Amino acid sequence: MAKVIDGKAISSAMLDKVAADVSALKAAGVEPCLAVILVGDDPASQVYVRNKHRACERVGIRSVSHLLPADTTQQALLDLIDTLNDDDTVHGILCQLPLPAHLDAEQVLLRIRPDKDVDAFHPANVGRITIGNAELLPCTPAGVMEMLRYEGISPAGKHCVVIGRSNIVGKPMALLLLAANGTVTVCHSRTPDLASFTRQADILVCAVGKRGLVTADMVKPGAVVIDVSINRDENGKLCGDADYEAVSKVASAITPVPGGVGPMTIAMLMRNTVTAANAQSR
Ligand code: NAD
Repeated sequence: MAKVIDGKAISSAMLDKVAADVSALKAAGVEPCLAVILVGDDPASQVYVRNKHRACERVGIRSVSHLLPADTTQQALLDLIDTLNDDDTVHGILCQLPLPAHLDAEQVLLRIRPDKDVDAFHPANVGRITIGNAELLPCTPAGVMEMLRYEGISPAGKHCVVIGRSNIVGKPMALLLLAANGTVTVCHSRTPDLASFTRQADILVCAVGKRGLVTADMVKPGAVVIDVSINRDENGKLCGDADYEAVSKVASAITPVPGGVGPMTIAMLMRNTVTAANAQSR
């Protein structure tokens, strides 16, 4: 039976460390601050923003929420970002996605100052991730790397197969595994015979968003399976892409959904905010 990689416990340990770093910064006269922008009233986004606020409270980061109405104009949103960019007491800025359809998310992400871009979505940060000298790392893939490190699982020399090529998860995940000396294969919606690739994986990262996509016969015995996806089953219960029960019998380690990668993402956001505050107070 696979070892269950406990994202809640690992993220809790990480948050303790972040809290200590926050205390040190405060002692040096810097109060780390995260500004979160939410446009509209999407219920899932409201939950995410609330969770980020709670995590800030737990580690001692000041958090400021900017809740804007759904009919906010592009200019008003850009103006708010400019104000936050210029505010020396704000170290991290994130704009909760998705934005209402009339807003241009790409332009919004480009407006956030790269050193305050705690989601690490700005092309300047993506470029730095690509060449391997980034300070701010994309939260979900960085959370996966922390989990692997915590569990003593090194990607070095391993075949790492990532299913999914989004800008938020799949692509940066592949880059971080590559930087850690993994041999990386990226699979996606146009990959023929997905199983022929997944069966070669020593570390398999699932980031598609399709329940039941990864079955036990697609997993090499002893592989580590990291399930990033958050889906719902027919009873509304959260689940990932992998058939958890069956894959657990084949893999050596696996992340559950919920309680796996999810809690790591928010811990990494807290870490990025502290990293940003540190860099801006140098
Ligand atoms: P996305 O929809 O942007 O990308 C999905 C990717 O899957 C695409 O690159 C696509 O090419 C690929 N794909 C689609 N069908 C496929 C198939 N049949 N075979 C192989 N590849 C296929 O999604 P995303 O934003 O990358 O998120 C992926 C999943 O991760 C979602 O379930 C999302 O909810 C979850 N997620 C979780 C966290 C977290 O904190 N745990 C964070 C971000 C996203």
